[in-house]
Amino acid sequence: MTEVLANYIGGEWRRSTARETLPVLNPATAETLACVPLSPPEEVDAAARAAAEAFPGWRRTPVLERVQYLFRLKRLLEEQFEDLSRTITTECGKTLAEARGEMRRAIENVETACGTPVLMQGYNAEDIAAGIDAFLIRQPVGVCAVIAPFNFPGMIPFWFLPYAIACGNTFIVKPSEKAPLTMQKVFHLLEQTGLPRGVVNLVNGARQTAEAILDHPLVRAISFVGSTPAARHIYARAAANGKRVQCHGGAKNPIVVLPDADLEMTTRIAADSAFGCAGQRCLAASLAITVGEARRTFGEAIAAEAARRRVGYGLEEGVEMGPVIRAESKARIERLIGVAAEEGARVVVDGRGARIRGYERGFFVRPTVLDGVPPGGEIARTEIFGPVLGLMHADTIDEAIALVNSGAYGNMACLFTSSGAAARKFRYEAEAGNIGINVGVAAPVASFPFSGARESFFGDLHGQGRDAIEFFTQEKVVVERWPREWSRTF
Ligand code: NAD
Repeated sequence: MTEVLANYIGGEWRRSTARETLPVLNPATAETLACVPLSPPEEVDAAARAAAEAFPGWRRTPVLERVQYLFRLKRLLEEQFEDLSRTITTECGKTLAEARGEMRRAIENVETACGTPVLMQGYNAEDIAAGIDAFLIRQPVGVCAVIAPFNFPGMIPFWFLPYAIACGNTFIVKPSEKAPLTMQKVFHLLEQTGLPRGVVNLVNGARQTAEAILDHPLVRAISFVGSTPAARHIYARAAANGKRVQCHGGAKNPIVVLPDADLEMTTRIAADSAFGCAGQRCLAASLAITVGEARRTFGEAIAAEAARRRVGYGLEEGVEMGPVIRAESKARIERLIGVAAEEGARVVVDGRGARIRGYERGFFVRPTVLDGVPPGGEIARTEIFGPVLGLMHADTIDEAIALVNSGAYGNMACLFTSSGAAARKFRYEAEAGNIGINVGVAAPVASFPFSGARESFFGDLHGQGRDAIEFFTQEKVVVERWPREWSRTF
């Protein structure tokens, strides 16, 4: 019988009372790996109560003691690194090398959060008026929660969880219903760290479970990562409930290739960006805007690179790209390739109808290149979230930047060039929160915020780094007067 995943609430594993479950599939084989319960609001309530009960004691635990649990977690994650990486590949399809990269990024966030004793310090000023001093101190917010997407099931909860608990908050994770297995394993490791009961909680489910978190009065802060429509909805609903909220949304990332770019390097990096993780990365290059002569040189090189990429099961040696997450995703991506052709784009490399020997039931789409995507059309605007790169052309860098800024999203924009002046201009003018110069996936390391903008982010403080510390702490300013005459001689 297929295992139904348990929730972890108040320091114990609890079977969900959910009447409905969903299958968790291996997207390369379509095999059912487990079933995920759609936990009802009562289970969210139990998690929120457990977290609220744990909060006063955890908050009073000195920060130097709190981070000891993270040091233990880091050791356990390193010990289980291979198993966690394989779990990511199995439930979400990316290659093992990509899954290892993801787990490395997760661990870097734990390491960075170990600096919380310094990062969470406030500041002070003596004599802001005669004999009066002022202090800013940072205190934890209370019960916080993350609602996570399927595409980085190991990493994304770590943009938040280690910082939240190091700052003295207690925490609830709601993983994606499509890829909940990695967090299940991570929570077994969290349990082994000996964290007090209720400090971390895991509740499985889909939209309804997430909404119960958004509406729960004991939950003080919400972190979300996922598609833009969900991000918008969650931002509004959580804010209406008086919570602090940060919502990372979808993307349509443009890269600009100037004629002076190193062609070999640019092609390799652009292909990794567009087709890596089967294009299911919020920092995947989705549009390449070539300037001048790069239209021909880059256009030919990227098509050759797309056509030669080895597609298959991510656990197998030599495979460079895995499947997309579900049969519906494959159907949607293939439909959008058809729309591109109807809009007048040329399908130079066509990834539709892929069949991989030995994995005929898998949800594979091969790398696809569309030339001459019309600006303003559906394909120029829509997040495809598959291994599809659209090419557009511009005569000048100004025209290219105007095309970059005509999109609604703002997760990432990249430039490939050997000109410092062009790089500076791009950095200055491109309207995106993460900028890459000769870099195809401009993912900030853990000590920097993951800086999406425009339709890719709702809120002000992002995940990771100092932003996370600010998000997970409440500032308090104290103004103190101690008149001198009170200082009798002791
Ligand atoms: P999704 O929006 O479908 O789901 C994300 C999470 O939200 C899941 O846990 C899901 O159960 C929950 N959810 C979905 N709709 C909801 C609703 N209306 N109310 C409450 N909860 C809801 O996203 P996905 O398909 O899992 O992930 C892919 C998307 O995530 C892409 O759009 C991608 O660009 C985006 N993403 C963004 C970033 C970023 O940093 N900006 C990072 C990773 C993924």
